[in-house]
Amino acid sequence: MSEKIKMQVPIVEMDGDEMTRIIWAWVKEILLLPFVDLKTEYFDLGLKERERTKDRITILAAEAIKEYGVGVKCATITPNEERVEEYGLTEMYKSPNGTIRAILDGTVFRAPILANGIVPYIPGWKKPITIARHAYGDIYKNVESLASAGDKAELVLTPADGADGNEKRLLIHSFEKSGGIAQGVHNTDASIESFARACMNYAVDTRQDLWFATKDTISKTYDRRFRDIFEKIFNEEYKARFEDIGITYFYTLIDDAVARVIRSDGGYIWACKNYDGDVMSDMIATAFGSLAMMTSVLVSPSGYYEYEAAHGTVQKHYYKHLEGGVTSTNSVATIFAWTGALKKRADLDGLAALSAFAEKLENAVLSTIGEGVMTGDLYSISALAGKKQVDTKTFLYEAAKRL
Ligand code: NAP
Ligand code: MG
Repeated sequence: MSEKIKMQVPIVEMDGDEMTRIIWAWVKEILLLPFVDLKTEYFDLGLKERERTKDRITILAAEAIKEYGVGVKCATITPNEERVEEYGLTEMYKSPNGTIRAILDGTVFRAPILANGIVPYIPGWKKPITIARHAYGDIYKNVESLASAGDKAELVLTPADGADGNEKRLLIHSFEKSGGIAQGVHNTDASIESFARACMNYAVDTRQDLWFATKDTISKTYDRRFRDIFEKIFNEEYKARFEDIGITYFYTLIDDAVARVIRSDGGYIWACKNYDGDVMSDMIATAFGSLAMMTSVLVSPSGYYEYEAAHGTVQKHYYKHLEGGVTSTNSVATIFAWTGALKKRADLDGLAALSAFAEKLENAVLSTIGEGVMTGDLYSISALAGKKQVDTKTFLYEAAKRL
């Protein structure tokens, strides 16, 4: 074999839990280490290590991404009651993704991986649709209450100077005959601006059109603010760059956007308000075939990138693996998390050979599937005539053969 491909700056490598932790080690052993002189700063975000360090390890990993710029993360368990018991945790630690996102302040872009023979439920979709979800505010930070008959719900804004005369009081509803419910939501200009910039940067980065939609015909102040901020940032900071590379920014109403998405052939970024993004990302992932074919990248306004698979730790497969069973778990999104990070590192450091390797690895994986060799999740939805189901490790060896 010829000499291994060299790296300069390390990638922040974050190991994880369960089946994806097993896959993580195999991907490195079979597809990366034989070809690349892999340089990483390793952080074990597996739940045992999070417990041992009282979750400091997650913070250290996020700080390291700030230092080096690019990270790749394995799926991790977000503890709930059952996990506290299973792992003997002293605390119900927060989701590592949440902790990392809070430190890097970014936007998550989720994009499906398209392979020959895996036909989307919407057959017109020929190119990926990337969803960007604004992960702040709206109903996710709401204040809500039950109301009894006779109650009055008001929206009150108290100015910083506390002067009573400046208080703003708007009637939401007077519950005269029937009780009901009331809810208060908010967002901040700073968060919307940072979301708009992240989307526009990513559009330029990946040379894709950007779509954004709200319901500003109904919500004339709240949703209108999103629309105006996006428009202002686009006109003042991005218009010329978009024109230079031939991409467009397109605003429409959310219901119109949904209809257009279905009719489209894909190939753009769809920026969504928090709730729309929550709902639509699940629809897009399912419609493209499999959650196991979704990649996810967190892009921070300061230019840090964190790549991962969109799926979880595939717990059921892990238990089967522990019992000595052979699993057929899909490693594609995990592999693409690595290639995404390698390509970004290659771009930043000017390493053509590393970039070419990442591209070849993606092609090898896609041709493996295109030639009919795939894991169970894809086997069940593939339209290929001579398709064959293989186990987790065999898929990796098959991809290596084609590399
Ligand atoms: P999951 O790991 O995404 O798996 C749910 C089901 O989807 C699996 O049982 C499997 O279905 C299918 N699936 C997902 N990924 C697959 C793959 N790569 N190959 C084949 N099938 C795949 O979600 P979960 O079981 O709800 O969550 C397990 C753990 O993951 C939880 O502790 C959660 O906290 C964590 N999680 C982490 C992240 C993250 O780190 N980003 C994201 C989500 C969840 P079948 O069983 O039918 O084969
Ligand atoms: Mg959701």
